[in-house]
Amino acid sequence: MESLTLPSYSDVQAAAERIKPVANLTPVLTSRSFNEEVGAEVFFKCENFQRTGSFKFRGAYNSLAKFSEAQRKAGVVAFSSGNHAQGIALAAKLLNMPATIVMPTDAPAAKVAATQGYGATVVFYDRYTQDREAIGRALAEEKGMTLIPSYDHPDVLSGQGTAAKELIESVGNLDALFVGLGGGGMLSGTSLSVRALSPDCVIYGVEPEAGNDGQRSFQSGELVHIDTPDTIADGAQTQHLGKYTFPIILDGVNEIVTVTDEELIEGMKFFAQRMKIVVEPTGCLGIAAVRKLKEKIKGLKVGVIITGGNVDTEKYARLILT
Ligand SMILES: *Cc1c(COP(=O)(O)O)cnc(C)c1O
Repeated sequence: MESLTLPSYSDVQAAAERIKPVANLTPVLTSRSFNEEVGAEVFFKCENFQRTGSFKFRGAYNSLAKFSEAQRKAGVVAFSSGNHAQGIALAAKLLNMPATIVMPTDAPAAKVAATQGYGATVVFYDRYTQDREAIGRALAEEKGMTLIPSYDHPDVLSGQGTAAKELIESVGNLDALFVGLGGGGMLSGTSLSVRALSPDCVIYGVEPEAGNDGQRSFQSGELVHIDTPDTIADGAQTQHLGKYTFPIILDGVNEIVTVTDEELIEGMKFFAQRMKIVVEPTGCLGIAAVRKLKEKIKGLKVGVIITGGNVDTEKYARLILT
């Protein structure tokens, strides 16, 4: 097997410097009623207030800012169900380079519109019959563009790790941290930051129950591949962890847990009713797991990363009313 050079916390620090002039230093919110409900002190890092509405802008900008002059000229290509697309599209716009995004035909309309709004070219594919990676690679080859994947890339995951770095720098050491898990860019980057800044903190990765490939991979030590899972958490409909993200997760993460779609909806309702914030289904993985594990975290200081807030208003209303 080829040996990979895995990123380390110094790469997260470099990413933090790179994104500082353009990224939002997102707020950390608390809720007394939630603290009472779970018997812990909980800090929510609100990446739903990040530029483009999710943490994906961090990794996208960090990656594109490192491009050579020739790479900038040819531009970037990415495939994504939405949030990575928006992150790449805005980062490309800010860095004055062309971007082509390969998106599934059933991607949320708001995400497609936002991506096009940032000036990117959108190419559609059928997520159940076509291979998006092959489409992305062909475009990259034809036009000399650089492909930036949504999670399995050292610069992407180092960028995502800056959110946990900011959280710990603003609230201090944590006893536990809950992070949504798709392909593991956020979780692996978080692990680099936490192991450097708050080493005793227990890190929980949280997956939708329908797509627990990460949990199975973590428990077996072997990379498990699954079919596209059926879940409302469209930001975590990934089929496997990555060659960069998996070893970092194995090394630094403590446990991977799962939650149901119903539990994600309860999270959306709580955020709307009690905290007055719009959070997309995938963004509720963390809060759902805190509720599920509340006996385990009693009396502890707990962090939760709210990963994003991008959801079509009609879908949002429908879910909130169920
Ligand atoms: C991408 C995404 C995730 C999962 O992130 P990975 O780095 O793929 O694990 C979670 N929540 C939201 C809102 C996302 O956009």
